[in-house]
Amino acid sequence: MKKGLLIVISGPSGVGKDTLVKEYMKSNNAFLSISATSRKIRGNEKDGIDYYFLSKEEFEKRIDEGDFLEYAIYNNCYYGTPKSEIEDLLNKGIDVFLVIEVQGGLQIKEKMSDSILIFIKPPSIEILENRLKNRGFDSEEMIANRLKIATVELEISKKYDYCIINDDLNSSVRKLKSIIDMEKEKRN
Ligand code: 5GP
Repeated sequence: MKKGLLIVISGPSGVGKDTLVKEYMKSNNAFLSISATSRKIRGNEKDGIDYYFLSKEEFEKRIDEGDFLEYAIYNNCYYGTPKSEIEDLLNKGIDVFLVIEVQGGLQIKEKMSDSILIFIKPPSIEILENRLKNRGFDSEEMIANRLKIATVELEISKKYDYCIINDDLNSSVRKLKSIIDMEKEKRN
């Protein structure tokens, strides 16, 4: 049986990574990994669905126990991919998405060189700023901080295998599908 693809999706906060992956998954079979985080629960989020919400101490205990495939500190909080069922799913031929930030993405590439890294770019920094403001989650200060992080992330994205400029959702989904199809053909 052919192994599934491990697909890392990264991009600045507010760029629409989650929406893109969820839209792709409506018509394609894949699994979206649920991360753990030590950040506070936000808006309508639910524990075990959006994230596994852990305290800083619980997170650190799980790092020591070797529970994470990768983890990183982002905006002063821990974020990590639980190892649990990912290897199993890939071995069963199921594609797995990790929607994670760039430091974690590069750790994955180092550990699993056949993973593919895709960076989602905003059409411009101004458009990203407007999207963050319209989401209404963050204070002005937090938005300024997210934009600063976005600039660093854009620099790191040069190490990624592919970039998609997320201008229009349907066209981004088509691009994502063609990258995945091409990668599968390469492995045939
Ligand atoms: P947010 O707090 O907005 O949900 O996420 C902040 C950033 O952390 C986003 O870029 C998100 O993709 C990233 N992130 C989410 N889960 C993980 C993870 O398991 N590992 C890493 N390295 N980053 C993650």
